Amino acid sequence: MADADLPGGAADLPGGAADLVVRGARCVATMDADRRELSDGWVAVTDGFVSAVGTGDAPDAATVIDATDCLVTPGLVNAHHHLFQNLTRAYPPMTDKPLFGWLQSLYPLWRTIDAESVHVSAWVGLAELALSGCTTSTDHLYLHPRGAGDLLTAEIDAARDLGIRFHPTRGSMSLSEKDGGLPPDDVVADDDEILAACEEAVARHHDRSSGAMTRVALAPCSPFSVTEDLMVRTAELAERLDVRLHTHFAENAEDDEFSLATFGCRPMEYLERTGWCTDRTWVAHCVMPEPDEIRRLGAAGVSAAHCPSSNLILSSGIAPVVDLRAAGVHVGLGVDGSSSADSASLWLEARQAMLLTKLRDGAASGSARMALEIATLGGAACLGRQGELGVIEPGAVGDLAVWSLTGPSYAGALADPVEAWLRCGPASARDTIVHGRPIVRAGALESPAVETMLAEHARLAARVQRLAE
Ligand SMILES: [Zn+2]
Repeated sequence: MADADLPGGAADLPGGAADLVVRGARCVATMDADRRELSDGWVAVTDGFVSAVGTGDAPDAATVIDATDCLVTPGLVNAHHHLFQNLTRAYPPMTDKPLFGWLQSLYPLWRTIDAESVHVSAWVGLAELALSGCTTSTDHLYLHPRGAGDLLTAEIDAARDLGIRFHPTRGSMSLSEKDGGLPPDDVVADDDEILAACEEAVARHHDRSSGAMTRVALAPCSPFSVTEDLMVRTAELAERLDVRLHTHFAENAEDDEFSLATFGCRPMEYLERTGWCTDRTWVAHCVMPEPDEIRRLGAAGVSAAHCPSSNLILSSGIAPVVDLRAAGVHVGLGVDGSSSADSASLWLEARQAMLLTKLRDGAASGSARMALEIATLGGAACLGRQGELGVIEPGAVGDLAVWSLTGPSYAGALADPVEAWLRCGPASARDTIVHGRPIVRAGALESPAVETMLAEHARLAARVQRLAE
């Protein structure tokens, strides 16, 4: 039990003993306002929230995790994904096509998804993320084939079963090939139908409470797959329901060209004229903005999910992360769908972000600390949960990642545990803790369902890929 005589800050623990303590860390990178990094650090979690942090002797708790030789960070936040795409991971014919051709090749396979395949792909995809230290993920689920069932509920059930914090978006597509868009006719819906489904999804699943495990945002797929009217009305609905807005934005040159040819303006102006330039918006990619557009994004309080691996695989370009941050844009990190960035590891994306920033803006610009910041605080801002997610301080949620800095990969990395974390490796989380509950221990998922779900996933992925032939 916690005791008033215990040294090291334990006496300050409110309400006595904690539920969980992570102690003895080589470093706790708090990501708090002072960016405190605590040697021999500990973190106590009570009722799902961080109740105290300190150094030296730690308070007692029902669950004690020894973090000797480990770095402890806030749980990483994934700000962009399409979980269902792991059903067509690394699908061979698509690997040499840029964005539009790649999408049009895969739509015929994806149109076969249903509630079962969405549930299983979400479970497996979120499990993969948890193994990389992710404790909160969004999902941009924009594909709702006619008759496929309630796909949003199917993926929310998967997240609940796994125990990961989840911000799914009710995505949509309304502009099919016959109307000048990209997707096939049978996966688009009518604008009124989409808006009704969005409103119902928020009413049913959106939890506004502090520490919420599930929140819903509204997310038309992209300017090239929805009508302008749907963009406008979705922004109005998000305002009325007080939920966040998400879409793809300025992903590559094709995106710019489509916007100029179809709307007569660049993607930035389109975002502005549809009412999306607000601080409830976070966009995915943001590879192509010009300097003045970067300034306007920052002034509006728009956030952006940087998806480095996807941008590399699809040869889209390198997002101007340093310039965006300098302009006040909150930049988070996204793994993007597993058909375009086929590995869904937030650690890997953080490393890619660090390396690309060094390449684009100079070696000193892309530090491990910058990458950690966008993977935690930046993601929290994208999801509208600053101060609650992505930071280790009393009152924040008890979401933690514990990273072992031992073994051959870290031999000799004595000087700086945070730089070592991202420059050595590859790394997976040793322990991933969500709302005070470990869901990964010793590098393995705690759920007993892993093998069953992987077998189901193999069956369903084969079905999706075979049926389309
Ligand atoms: Zn995407």
